[in-house]
Amino acid sequence: MMFDSNGKAYASVAETKEGTVLVADAGFTCIESGAELTVQSDPVNGLYVSCGDGKHFLDGQCDDHTAPDAFYVGLYPKPAA
Ligand SMILES: [Zn+2]
Repeated sequence: MMFDSNGKAYASVAETKEGTVLVADAGFTCIESGAELTVQSDPVNGLYVSCGDGKHFLDGQCDDHTAPDAFYVGLYPKPAA
């Protein structure tokens, strides 16, 4: 598991699937801080969320795909209600 500077865990690659809701941090230029984003699936490029530029592919947020505990930097799992 990977945490941000506030100790908050980022979304893990293993648990993020189409339909998962993620919450963006303040590090995006194309996504509003705190925005809730439903993960969608592109047949060619895989998982993405909608952003100001169109599709924001999650691959670009992942630090290391080969790690067993890979995570998406800047995206948090939405806390359970
Ligand atoms: Zn984007």
